[in-house]
Amino acid sequence: MGASFRYAVISDVHSNLESLTAVLNDIDKEKIKKVLFIGDVVGYGPDPVGCIELIKKRCTYAVAGNHDWAVIGYTPSDYFNYNARVAIEWTKEQLGNDELEFLQSLSIVKVLRKESLFLVHASPKEPDAWSYILSLHDAEINFQYFNERICLIGHSHVPFIIERLPSGEIVLYREKIEFKESCRYIINVGSVGQPRDGNPEAAYAIINDKYARIVRVRYDIEMTQKKMKKAGLPEFLIERLSKGI
Ligand code: ZN
Repeated sequence: MGASFRYAVISDVHSNLESLTAVLNDIDKEKIKKVLFIGDVVGYGPDPVGCIELIKKRCTYAVAGNHDWAVIGYTPSDYFNYNARVAIEWTKEQLGNDELEFLQSLSIVKVLRKESLFLVHASPKEPDAWSYILSLHDAEINFQYFNERICLIGHSHVPFIIERLPSGEIVLYREKIEFKESCRYIINVGSVGQPRDGNPEAAYAIINDKYARIVRVRYDIEMTQKKMKKAGLPEFLIERLSKGI
């Protein structure tokens, strides 16, 4: 067994300050001191500067997501669909040097050796190709591309916990799991700022050396939507927040 630890893990904040604040308050209530960030602080939402400030202040370790890289020109914007591109261009206009420097400082993967955790936004196999882990088959392949016991990801905005037994069998869990000695795991912590699993509540994960669970937190969706309207961000991005799709 590795060292004992306790982390809150957050991903895909997407410039949603209301959901990020609600999640960080919940993490405080749980008395968790250390927060890991799995990428995409910006994109889609109306508060890129405020969200970067909070992530900088509160997160012990952070890695880059595809939207973070798009804003600083590391990932070409033709990778993105129209609405995402509009939001990326809008975000670029909001950021100053401090924010850009922070995004540039993020690494693409992070390994916590003592805890045997591997942090990456999209997939261990191709971290900067931003491919998705959407099926058990995708997961099975990706288990070959990291050596740690647990891989923490985001990117699809749909939380899940995948367990790999020593036999090679792969099992899917939705909300929580108690870790077994000889198994390995890929955990998608869901999205703080734009959930897409049909539940509009913000998602994050609590993980320690014994278990992991996905937590959902209510936040003021209408406030975020009002700000997005005012900023002139695409209608589709505004509407999807209340549906969680
Ligand atoms: Zn994202």
